[in-house]
Amino acid sequence: MSDQRHAPSQDKQSKTLDFSARRRAMVHNQIAARGVESEHVLKAMERVPREQFLPEHMQEFAYDDTPLPIEEGQTISQPYIVAFMTEALNLEGGEKVLEIGTGSGYAAAVLSEIASDVYTVERLGELAVTAAAKLSDLGYRNVHVLHADGTRGWPEHAPYDAIIVAAGGPEVPASLKRQLKIGGRLVIPIGTDPRAQELVRVTRVGDDAFESEDIADVRFVPLVGEEGWASGRPQSSPRQRTRRSADPDDSAISTVREFSEPFDSMEDADLDALIARIGDARVVLLGEATHGTSEFYRMRERLSQELILKKGFRFIAIEGDWPDAARVDHYVRHFEYPASEWTAFARFPTWMWRNREVQSFVDWLRDYNEAKQPEQRVAFHGLDLYSLYTSIRSVLTYLDDVDPEAAETARERYGCLTPWQSDPATYGRAALTGRFRSCEDPVARMLSSLLERRHAYALRNGDRYFDAVQNAKLVANAERYYRIMYYGSRASWNLRDRHMFETLTSLLEFYGANSKTIVWAHNSHVGDALATEMALRGEHNLGQLCRAEFGRGVYTIGFGTDHGQVAAASNWDGPMEIKTVRPAVSNSYERLFHKASQAGNSSRFLLNVAQNGKSDLYNVLGTPRLERAIGVIYSPETELASHYFQAILPKQFDDYFWFDETSAITPLDTKELEGLPDTYPFGV
Ligand code: SAH
Repeated sequence: MSDQRHAPSQDKQSKTLDFSARRRAMVHNQIAARGVESEHVLKAMERVPREQFLPEHMQEFAYDDTPLPIEEGQTISQPYIVAFMTEALNLEGGEKVLEIGTGSGYAAAVLSEIASDVYTVERLGELAVTAAAKLSDLGYRNVHVLHADGTRGWPEHAPYDAIIVAAGGPEVPASLKRQLKIGGRLVIPIGTDPRAQELVRVTRVGDDAFESEDIADVRFVPLVGEEGWASGRPQSSPRQRTRRSADPDDSAISTVREFSEPFDSMEDADLDALIARIGDARVVLLGEATHGTSEFYRMRERLSQELILKKGFRFIAIEGDWPDAARVDHYVRHFEYPASEWTAFARFPTWMWRNREVQSFVDWLRDYNEAKQPEQRVAFHGLDLYSLYTSIRSVLTYLDDVDPEAAETARERYGCLTPWQSDPATYGRAALTGRFRSCEDPVARMLSSLLERRHAYALRNGDRYFDAVQNAKLVANAERYYRIMYYGSRASWNLRDRHMFETLTSLLEFYGANSKTIVWAHNSHVGDALATEMALRGEHNLGQLCRAEFGRGVYTIGFGTDHGQVAAASNWDGPMEIKTVRPAVSNSYERLFHKASQAGNSSRFLLNVAQNGKSDLYNVLGTPRLERAIGVIYSPETELASHYFQAILPKQFDDYFWFDETSAITPLDTKELEGLPDTYPFGV
C-alpha cells in the first residue's frame, strides 16, 4: 500500500527532470541546429514548460519536433516555428507585443520571457479561458488574454513594437498594420489557400509606408475573422459569397414597389391592413435597425397605441433593464411608491430609453391609464439583465419592508458580489480563474427562499412580490452572464436572450392566459435568428424562442433605413454622437428597398415580407442578402465588416417598415426636467 502511495510522486519528479532535459535537447537539436541564433529566443524556449500547455495525455510528446493538436481542432505550433517567428520579430527585450491566436498560450509564454508585455487575442472562447487560466497558474503576469476576433487587433493597447499572427489569412489585416509602431514588425502567414501560406514580415517604415518580405513557406490553421477567412472553407462561406457586389435588378425593384404599402407621416399611415394581419397574435415583436433612430420609435409608438386601443394589449416589454423599466411602470400606472435614490436608465447607453420619443409614448400611456381601473392599466416592463446591482438593491428594499429578518440573510448572500460593484465583468474573470469564489450558490439560494415564501409575501402585494422575484432571477442570470462572458460571445448572448424570453413568459403568465404583449427591441433580438448568420454561430434570440413557444401567436415586425442620421457612440461607454448613416451597400435588402423608394417615389412604406411563404415578392426576397444592424455603437469606417450580416428577410420578419431617410432621436437632457415631480421616471 505505502509503496503505491509513493509511486505517483516519484513518478512525477522523474518526469519533471525528464521534461527539462528533453527541453534542452529540443532547443539544441531542433532550434539552434536549424539556424536560430538569438540568445533571447533560445533562452526563452529553454525556460517555458511546453508540456504544461498540452492536455495530460499529450504531454509525453511535448518536445517532439512537430505541431500537436489541442482543443477545438486547433494546434500548438511546432517548437521550431515558434522560435523562428519569434526571432523574426527582432525583439531586444522590453517590448510591447501583440499575438493573434493564443491557442494553448504556449507561444505567448515564450514571447513574455522576452517582451515586457504580451497582449494575446483568441477567437475561440474556450481556448482563451483555458490559456488565461494556465498562464496565470504558471505565474505569467505580463500576458493579457482577450477573447475576440484578432483580425481587428487589440486597439486599446496599440501601438505595438511587434505583432505575431499564429494563423494563416488571405491578406494582411489593415487593422493590424495600423496598430504597429513606426519601425514595428508584423509576422504573419499569408496565402490564398487557407491551410498553406508564406510567412511574411511587414515592417512599418512610416505613417503610410510598409515594407514586406517573404521569409518562409509554412502551414498554419486558418485565421478566421472579419479581416481573415469567413470560415475554414472560404469557397462556401456566406461572407465570401456576399462580397461579390450586385445591384438589384429592375424586376426585383418593381415587385417590391407593387407589394409596398406607402405612407407619408406617422400620424396618417393607414395601419388597418397590418392590424388585420396581426390578428389575434398574443406577442407582437417590434424591432429597430438602430438604437438611435427617431422614426423607428415614433412608428412603434403609433402602432402600439393602435394595438392597445383596438386589441387590448396588456403590457409593453422593452430591451431595457427590469428595475429601470419598473420606474416607468410606476409612473404610467399611477403607483404611489416612494421615490428611490437612483436614476433610471443612467447606464450607457442612456439615450436608448431616455429620449423625447420614448417620453412621448410614456406620457401617452400615463394619460391613457388614468381613467382605467388599476387592473386594466397597460404596464411597462424591461426584459434585459444588465442591472445586477440595482436589482440587488431592489430585492433588499423589498425585504426590508416585508421581512427584515430575511433582508439580513439577503445582505449576507448578495454581499458575495459587493466587491465588484464598479465593474461586474471583473467578477466574472476572477471567479473563472479561481482567484475568487463564485457567487452562484448564494444568489441561487436567495431566489429559492423568495420563491418558497411566495404565500406569505404575495398575499400582501402581488405586484411587488412579482417585481422582487424578477429582480432575484435577474441577479441569478446576471451573475452567470458575467461568469460565462469569458467563454465567448455566443454563450453570453444566448443566456441574455433566454433571460429576455423567460422574463416575457413570466409576465404573460402573471397577467393571465389572455394577456397580450408588445415588445420593443432591436431587430437582432426580435427577428428570427434561424434566418440569419446568427444560426451559423449557434446563437438563438428572443424572436426565435417566441416562435418556438407561441407559433402563429407571434407577429414580428422589422424596421430599416438607407441613410440619414443616427444617435450612437463610437466606443462602448463613449459619449453619444449624431452620426451620418451611410447609404446601404449593394447586395443588401436596404439597397433594394432604397431603389424601390426612388423608383416609386415613396420614401416610406410597409411591406408584408413573409407573404405566407409564397408570392412573387417572397421569391424576390427569399434569396439571402446582406442586412445592416446598427447598435449602440456605429463604426461607418468598417461598416461592411462590422454592421452587415447575411439574412433571409421574409423568414426573419412577418412585416417590415421602410424609412428611406431617417433622423436621430432627441436625447433627454436631465437638466431640462428640473421642476418636474420627483416621481417622473426620467428625472434624477
Ligand atoms: N500560438 C498558439 C498557436 C495556436 S493555433 C500556440 O502556440 O498554441 C492558432 C490559433 O489562432 C487557434 O487557436 C485559432 O483558434 C486562432 N485564431 C484563428 N483565427 C483567429 C482570429 N481571427 N482571432 C484570434 N484568434 C484566431
